Amino acid sequence: MTFANLGLMPQLLQAVAKEGYATPTPIQEQAIPHVLQGKDLIGIAQTGTGKTAAFVLPILQLMSRSPRRVIPNSPRTLVLAPTRELAAQIDESFAAYGSFMKFWHTVVFGGVSQVAQVREISRGVDVLVATPGRLLDLMNQGHINLGHLEFFVLDEVDRMLDMGFIVDVKRIISKLPTHRQSLFFSATMSPRISELAKTLLRNPVRVEVAPQATTVRLVKQKVLFVDEGNKNAILLKLLRHEDLKCVLVFARTKRRANNVAKLLTGAGIQAEAIHGNKSQGQRTRALDNFKSGHARVLVATDIAARGIDIDDISHVINYDLPVGQIEYYVHRIGRTARAGAKGTAYSLCASYERDALREIESLIRMKIEVMPHSFHSDKARDAVGAAARPPPKQHRGQRRSDINRQRRGRFQSR
Ligand code: AMP
Repeated sequence: MTFANLGLMPQLLQAVAKEGYATPTPIQEQAIPHVLQGKDLIGIAQTGTGKTAAFVLPILQLMSRSPRRVIPNSPRTLVLAPTRELAAQIDESFAAYGSFMKFWHTVVFGGVSQVAQVREISRGVDVLVATPGRLLDLMNQGHINLGHLEFFVLDEVDRMLDMGFIVDVKRIISKLPTHRQSLFFSATMSPRISELAKTLLRNPVRVEVAPQATTVRLVKQKVLFVDEGNKNAILLKLLRHEDLKCVLVFARTKRRANNVAKLLTGAGIQAEAIHGNKSQGQRTRALDNFKSGHARVLVATDIAARGIDIDDISHVINYDLPVGQIEYYVHRIGRTARAGAKGTAYSLCASYERDALREIESLIRMKIEVMPHSFHSDKARDAVGAAARPPPKQHRGQRRSDINRQRRGRFQSR
């Protein structure tokens, strides 16, 4: 199968060739012909499957086949995404795939001034990519009118609901014109998601790529059974290996993400942290540092990492397992097997995470290989180094268990 077989126009074929894509991914192969025929669509696919091109390419073609002058404040296409990073990446994809076409596009999200965003929109854009909160703000202020919308994409719906955007999304949907084409993408389907899909879509085609199977098969996975107090030392030990070149570390909370980044920086390993408490500028800087290779490690929480599009991640390390939200495990490890690449994922599993590990193994229908390690508390302390030296010995047992209790409490109420 080639992109030309999918019925894409020459300008788009040129763009995908420029991007270096040889063949369409399964979601592209299944979705693009239906979208080109004007059908509504539910795509069940996670980040990393090529789903962005699966909607951007056909929408660009449909818009170019029925040209229209831009109308100030009134986009033809609206794409809603849950995070600023994802919204920015989708906007970049429009720029990349549309590099041989003429159209106007822009992205709006919160956390930055709206002045430039309002200016762009009032000049008129064909494509608007937005996060729900900022879009609603701008709509309420009269800067955006969706009355002339032709194409609507709701991306990462599962994450959108997890992040509490359901009311905002429903408000936006209520303002859409009845005559439109709608595309709906989610990594998972649940009754709540299907219900939302029903309110939005008309006779949708359903296409599905099995993320679990494909991602899980491509990633070499290992688990290390550890004590909570040994996690820092074991992380540092893993990172001593030079083949861990571009590493994404997942921590359960913002505070833990910060602490891990501090630990690594103190040990001379260039690291950045990215989570919801960081400003847009800080996130962008952190991502740029990581992408350019200045920082070897990016420490992230699940929500912050969602939608980050970085191709060359060699390793994922789960400093914490995603207790309570085990499906994040598949999203996390999928970061290292983008578009067919192979990667490795290590999971540090403390005793309170054993249940989560069992649930994960049952979700992915395989046993994760146990990696032996020789860390006992004393050795671990030695390996941590001055930057992250734990408190004096006589207090440690007690303090550590107190800390663990607090951490568990915090996570559950997050
Ligand atoms: P997405 O799932 O949309 O986040 O895309 C994941 C990654 O796959 C992005 O870095 C894309 O540039 C890349 N990609 C998308 N389509 C293809 C393709 N047909 N061949 C190779 N890489 C692709």
